[in-house]
Amino acid sequence: MIESPETARPPSTGSLRELQAAREIAHAFLRARAPGEVYNLALEKVVPLVGAAFASVFLRQPEDDLLRVVAVHNWPQAYASYLSEMRVRIGNGPTGRAVAENRVIEIFDVFADPALEDWWDAARELDYASSVSLPLVTHTEPAGAITFYFREPERLSEADRSLLRLVADQLAATAEKAYLIEDLQRANEKLREQNVELEARYREADEARRLKSEFLANVSHELRTPLTAILGFAYLLREGFSGALHGEQAASIARIESAANTLMVLINDLLDLTHLTLGRTTVEPEECDATALARAALSAARPSVVGAEVRTQAAPEPISVRTDPVHVLRILQNLISNAFKFTPNGQITIRVRKAPAASDDGSAEDGSVPAAAGGDVIWEIEDTGIGIAPTDQEAIFDEFRQVDGSATRRYGGTGLGLALSRALARRLGGDISVRSELGTGSVFSLCIPRQPAGASVASAPPEAPNGS
Ligand code: ADP
Repeated sequence: MIESPETARPPSTGSLRELQAAREIAHAFLRARAPGEVYNLALEKVVPLVGAAFASVFLRQPEDDLLRVVAVHNWPQAYASYLSEMRVRIGNGPTGRAVAENRVIEIFDVFADPALEDWWDAARELDYASSVSLPLVTHTEPAGAITFYFREPERLSEADRSLLRLVADQLAATAEKAYLIEDLQRANEKLREQNVELEARYREADEARRLKSEFLANVSHELRTPLTAILGFAYLLREGFSGALHGEQAASIARIESAANTLMVLINDLLDLTHLTLGRTTVEPEECDATALARAALSAARPSVVGAEVRTQAAPEPISVRTDPVHVLRILQNLISNAFKFTPNGQITIRVRKAPAASDDGSAEDGSVPAAAGGDVIWEIEDTGIGIAPTDQEAIFDEFRQVDGSATRRYGGTGLGLALSRALARRLGGDISVRSELGTGSVFSLCIPRQPAGASVASAPPEAPNGS
């Protein structure tokens, strides 16, 4: 056995070579376009650095636990075609043992060991006399091994051994990183594709929703015309334009009118909701008094027969709000008629008050005009009626949603009122919320900014001080 010439080197040379090897591996990592290429690029630089004649990297095949060559450097040309077919059984030969035993296997002189007689022919043909196989350990198990072949019989110096170990460890870690990056890139690419697919689906769904809304708008519109005729002729009959009606006929006409009116309300709500969904609802703000709006809504929504006692609480002076009064009236009427409907007897209280804007934390960012200057108006419709269970309190704002159960079904209605009211409130820059307790009562709050978004505070008319 020949003593390695490296033993004569000063210790600093060993460290220098280690640094150089690490640098070459890092460089290979940066240059590789695919993870497998890291090995090839690194071997090209590292093999001469460690003084080997040639080298190969074997990786474990997950399907059959055989080792397959993934990279070689300087292998004799005659063997190049054979390499892709070559498989090494784990535990077999120096490379197979390095993987099986997870340790460095050094063969100082192939020909000096009769146990290695099987390898002599190959060693002669490939022209090597010694080899070092090192496991490539990524986690706990070796993923494969790297084998360096030397022309001369050679016993490694401690510096050589440490260099080879560093090369194997660095290569294993670097290649693993490259595979991870490739996995990540593949996952990213998949995500990107899924995203494109999702976007296409979303656009399709959006288009379908728009078509459905268009269809609803058209159908509702077309339904209104014959319904108007039904109501018109029912009115003429009721008023005796076609001759006097006897008792039963009058009762039948009244039923026709009532049913047609219910249908008209449903169609109008549906049409309005559809227009809101399609973004076709216009808002025409004007200066209004919030308390006056509440009183107007109450007189329009109050049924002819009232079981509940009603009271209004508001400051004596007007509460100005710049909004679309038609939309606000519509919302308040819905909320108030619900309060009447679900409070067969008890108390209904309508409150109107000013409040700081929900988004206003009281501190303007630049110290000038606060972001939500003007604040909100809140209308509260409180009843001591049947109340709503917590689990239903969000669902009632969905289209056609009514709290289930025979108790509420007998109150009638279409289940569109709250959906429409919330959509309108949001269109005005506000919202509706509910607090309720089953069997005790509910409070529906409509909150609207006193100035429409983007309106300047200075343009608001001066207002009397508020005592509410
Ligand atoms: P409708 O009143 O026509 O059924 P809405 O959308 O206005 O439709 O209301 C949806 C459901 O919310 C009602 O059917 C009822 O179950 C519940 N609800 C609304 N307002 C009240 C209220 N003040 N008290 C109790 N339940 C209510």
